[in-house]
Amino acid sequence: MKAIVVERLGPPDVMEVKEIPVPQAGEGEIRIEVEAVGINFADVLAVAGEYLTRTRVPYTPGMEFAGIVESLGEGVTNVKVGQRVACLGGSGALAKYAVAKASGVIPVPENFTGAQAAAFPVSYFTAYHGLKTLGRGVEGEWVLIQAAAGALGTASVQLAKALGMNVIAMASTEEKLQLARDLGADVTLLQDDPDRVKKVRDAAGGKGVPLILEVVGGKRFQESLDMAADQGRIIVIGNASREDAGMRPVELMKRNLTVTGLWLTSLMGDRQATVAAAEALTPLVASGKVTPQVGPTYALAESARAFQDILDRKTTGKVVIEP
Ligand code: NDP
Repeated sequence: MKAIVVERLGPPDVMEVKEIPVPQAGEGEIRIEVEAVGINFADVLAVAGEYLTRTRVPYTPGMEFAGIVESLGEGVTNVKVGQRVACLGGSGALAKYAVAKASGVIPVPENFTGAQAAAFPVSYFTAYHGLKTLGRGVEGEWVLIQAAAGALGTASVQLAKALGMNVIAMASTEEKLQLARDLGADVTLLQDDPDRVKKVRDAAGGKGVPLILEVVGGKRFQESLDMAADQGRIIVIGNASREDAGMRPVELMKRNLTVTGLWLTSLMGDRQATVAAAEALTPLVASGKVTPQVGPTYALAESARAFQDILDRKTTGKVVIEP
């Protein structure tokens, strides 16, 4: 079968289309004919060798995908052949077939396309944990969402609005801000607006923002501290700038700020948090209050371009590759 293979870590053009054997579903596993793969910033970092976990080569990227169950390994009873499922975790999805643990698959809501299903798990579970589980956001509260037109950003804006919060959205271009407004953002600001700190503080009633979803990092992290209200919560979800932040902990002390890290991979091990997130998200999906924003879609052979476009900040919504 055709698959993307990475033999050495580096920029997106290290990804090549190759013929590899079709993977076999072992005990407790299923084989899925891949319809759509959601590409996350984490995939780009993994190919570059800059992710939180070590990338072992050779490997086939692709951690979030949707497709049709094609065969069952021994002992699988919770899934049927022909069923459409979404999967999260591991790698290997940028291929015609991929194998996943049957216990980890998510049934796809009837109103979702394959691309929407592949765009859902990472961004929406992360958004929920950022806004609620760790962020403890409440109705009527202001939240600042960075990179608001991206995959996580669009999910966060939609979800925050559906949960009754007030949203300040930041992004790098007017076009991206328009998307955030279309999704319900109350206030939008260019990431490079020279008065951004004051404007954010003013928008949230002059006292700063109680909750910030921080995904850019680097020098922007200090700005997040400046934009936060006293006793504000800053949820560190990403470091898209790939720069060090150089934080001074005494800043936190002076203003009683809380900085909390969020990594979906390790939170998925917390069953209570995962079930609570799924229970909160299910009715919002069923009612159409949240709908994954599928961004540009690419063929398997265009994978390197898809990854480069994410790095170049050209994309909005979730980038999807259809093998
Ligand atoms: P996006 O679709 O949001 O793409 C990344 C966006 O980051 C860009 O569109 C860009 O938006 C912004 N950005 C800011 N600075 C840079 C930079 N120097 N280079 C490239 N992009 C930059 O990706 P994801 O939704 O997959 O991820 C968004 C962030 O959230 C990432 O940092 C990612 O690692 C993190 N994340 C973390 C998770 C976790 O479990 N901790 C789970 C999911 C995502 P703009 O042009 O508007 O600035």
